[in-house]
Amino acid sequence: MVSPEQLMQFMLALRNRGVTDNRVLQAMEKVPRHLFVQGHFQPRAYEDLALPIQCGQTISQPTVVGMMTMALKVGPRDKVLEVGTGSGYQAAILSHLARRVYSIERHRPLARQASKLFEELDLVNVTVITGDGSLGLPDQAPFDRILLTAAAEDPPANLLAQLRMGGIMVLPVGQTDAVQHLIVVEKTENGLNYKELAPVRFVPLVEGVAQEP
Ligand code: SAH
Repeated sequence: MVSPEQLMQFMLALRNRGVTDNRVLQAMEKVPRHLFVQGHFQPRAYEDLALPIQCGQTISQPTVVGMMTMALKVGPRDKVLEVGTGSGYQAAILSHLARRVYSIERHRPLARQASKLFEELDLVNVTVITGDGSLGLPDQAPFDRILLTAAAEDPPANLLAQLRMGGIMVLPVGQTDAVQHLIVVEKTENGLNYKELAPVRFVPLVEGVAQEP
């Protein structure tokens, strides 16, 4: 559960830390983050922290989620691809902003859990796929927006190919133990435009579907 005071503090902290876009804030206000965190971390869901989730992964820090969502400039008619469903928190926020969201996760238990939550929350425009997100989703391409929530060394070529002309891709780049940067890539008639946003820390993009024990 989240109290109205807790939610108000959370929203205020997001705004103070640079998440200033009202559409993004409204979407974030609608998503109960405590449902995307399990066990004894649940009481900390409304703090500005990345927290551990199943399969050794993490739910991203709320201000980073806010920044990435702002940078993605999602419109209500957009078809969005997310790579790295994790808890499903970011995808749930995108579902309030986009027409359609596809999210790929390499850990089946995470994909299942997120799917279940989307059903419970009645987020009918999100589809979760278990697979290797670095390959994208050729069947549904092109995408208006692509978001990676795992760090790649470079923007994956398959994903750039599945971004429509004029589309935007947001991703962390860099090696896991080194500094990573959040970058925005815009696909234009004259080539790709790159913009660097902020230093971040994400789990790495790993190839292949995970083999669960
Ligand atoms: N967006 C998530 C953050 C998840 S952390 C959230 O809101 O909670 C990044 C996730 O990317 C992890 O769950 C990890 O398993 C997944 N991942 C890493 N490499 C991947 C790949 N190649 N394809 C799909 N998912 C991948």
